Amino acid sequence: MIYDYLIVGAGFAGCVLAERIASQSGNKVLIIDRRNHIGGNCYDYYDESGVLVHKYGPHIFHTSSHKVWEYLSQFTEWIPYEHKVLAVIEGKKVPVPFNFNSINLIFPEEQAKRFQSLLLEKYRYGLKVPILKLIESRENELKYLADFIYKNVFYGYTVKQWGLKPEELDFSVTSRVPVLIGHDDRYFYDTYQGIPLKGYTELFNNIIKNKNIDVLLNTDYHLNISNLKYDKLIFTGPIDEYFDYCFGRLPYRSLEFEFRTFDKEWFQEAAQVNYPNDFDYTRITEFKHFSKQELPITSVAYEYPKAYINGVNEPYYPIQRKENDELYNKYKAIADRLDEKVLFLGRLAEYKYYNMDQIVGVALMTFEKQIAKEK
Ligand code: FAD
Ligand code: UDP
Repeated sequence: MIYDYLIVGAGFAGCVLAERIASQSGNKVLIIDRRNHIGGNCYDYYDESGVLVHKYGPHIFHTSSHKVWEYLSQFTEWIPYEHKVLAVIEGKKVPVPFNFNSINLIFPEEQAKRFQSLLLEKYRYGLKVPILKLIESRENELKYLADFIYKNVFYGYTVKQWGLKPEELDFSVTSRVPVLIGHDDRYFYDTYQGIPLKGYTELFNNIIKNKNIDVLLNTDYHLNISNLKYDKLIFTGPIDEYFDYCFGRLPYRSLEFEFRTFDKEWFQEAAQVNYPNDFDYTRITEFKHFSKQELPITSVAYEYPKAYINGVNEPYYPIQRKENDELYNKYKAIADRLDEKVLFLGRLAEYKYYNMDQIVGVALMTFEKQIAKEK
């Protein structure tokens, strides 16, 4: 059979576009993925102890886009969940994004008050200040505080996570976790936040439940090109791989997860505890905080950042910095010159540090602006 569309990759980019094409245009779609499951990096499963764990690290859904939230809510109900993260600093667990509550936990009362009033002289309450901005403070005491936060929250974590210092990465990377001028301990400030009631994999199953969509797992695009019959292609894998690395390899960062189950109800007081300054891992995630399962045991994942080695581990993160973005732009330029029968979309295909909601939004817009119009 000749499919109207071949979609490479069963993550959010691929599955949302497949759903739109199949349900709105009635075209036949084949999704392939080289992994043995759908869901891309959002895949979750029940481990041997019955805990719903996220295979590729903690995934918390958050968005301020009503359109994206409404779209996904057709396919799942939600467990209301607002993510809170603690970081171990000088032996204390303090909220991150670093905020006034974190200051109160670390510094003596008078000094904490002084820092807060200095911050409020310079910034309005509720403002989110990137650490690389705060560190430019000229005022002595603020400079001391900024250096403290830089050193204890960002430096060690970033060097572990990326093998680079904060200032060697695009400003946007550390700005994802700003310093908050206020008391809000939440990790995300979006309007809509939650975890799919029956998990991400079930959400994906519902998205692609359509008679016009077929799925082939354990199927790598490049190894199967000659067997795949289709009219148009949507590629959500690494763009450098698509073009056979003709300009050289785009750098990615990888991770290794160590899953452990403990014979006790809870392991830690929050879903995520970060270790910026100690150990080789960056964070420990305890999954029951997401699923709210009532079980006498609990499962956690320790996250160890690793260099990405093609064929050995997974390209989880594009490394956003000038020279890498320039290399990506070379690939994008040849992608733009291909005929219109190939579309590149997704975290790997666009070399962008997308969150889930962003890629769902991009997929919906791509369908409306580029695919539906062709009809
Ligand atoms: P992916 O999910 O990576 O899917 C791409 C798929 O393509 C993969 O399944 C891959 O196997 C397949 N593929 C690639 N090449 C080929 C090929 N040649 N042939 C066949 N198949 C191929 N976002 C949030 O909003 N909140 C979070 O809390 C959050 N936490 C995260 C934590 C971690 C550790 C990571 C790594 C990411 C996190 N994200 C989070 C981001 C989220 O995972 C991505 O935004 C989302 O998965 C992107 O979807 P995608 O479809 O572009 O890519
Ligand atoms: N970061 C940090 N310390 C922290 C949390 C985050 O230095 O305690 C920095 C680090 O560089 C990290 C980036 O902020 O890679 C983005 O963090 P985020 O939690 O968004 O990363 P992700 O969940 O995507 O891995």
